[in-house]
Amino acid sequence: MLVPAIQKAAEQLGLSRPEYIIPTHIHLDHAGGLGKLAEIFSRAQIVLNRQGAKHMVEPSRLIESTRMAFGDDFEATYGPILPVPESRLRLVRDGDRLKLGGRELLIVHTPGHAAHHIAIFDTKTRGLFCGESLGLIYSPGYPPLPAVAPPSFDLELYLNDMKNLKALKPKLLFYSHGTVAGEPEKLIDTAIENSKLVGELILRDLRAGKSDEAIIKAIGDYLTEHFDAPLDEYELQSNVSGYIHYFRKKGLV
Ligand SMILES: [Zn+2]
Repeated sequence: MLVPAIQKAAEQLGLSRPEYIIPTHIHLDHAGGLGKLAEIFSRAQIVLNRQGAKHMVEPSRLIESTRMAFGDDFEATYGPILPVPESRLRLVRDGDRLKLGGRELLIVHTPGHAAHHIAIFDTKTRGLFCGESLGLIYSPGYPPLPAVAPPSFDLELYLNDMKNLKALKPKLLFYSHGTVAGEPEKLIDTAIENSKLVGELILRDLRAGKSDEAIIKAIGDYLTEHFDAPLDEYELQSNVSGYIHYFRKKGLV
């Protein structure tokens, strides 16, 4: 679905031969079209963290989980999930720098949202492509709220990623799903605060013995009341299950 939009944007920018394609991570809504994009932009290197790469070269698990979430006929709506040829990959780790024209892109491993998540910092303009590692602004003008999904979300690492990204002193944040925002310091502080807060509420409810469904409802109500939160049902469920999975994995409940 997004591949034609990316193709059109590249055309409008006169980018017929991009050097790199860099998804921040391999969750379906960020990398489902990666194989197709690799086919279209046949000279671009596909930049990925090592932990995500194998699932893009051999996407059977990604396809399986997509089927589970969206049904057997997901291709009719979302298009096919194609493998990325291994020869096209450029594997990166924390601290790597990619040369691009007269500038350098610094890769920051941000494993809190997912083990394979990276952020990309343009050292020249101080623009930070933070993906979902600083939460998400779910709708323009709203404060950043946690962007959480099971199974590899780790709250401790997530908060640590936010601290590390703040230390880069970015000037502009490019969030996933379309928002660009100034005032990074304030936004990162708010994201830290809100990620802790939502975690505390969920942990309290878990310890009180509430069911997962009841917690989803309670958090939905809380976010609506306090933030007029624009999360849809899927986002809300993903957030809450991500936290619950993490707290159980850590043995906190
Ligand atoms: Zn994600």
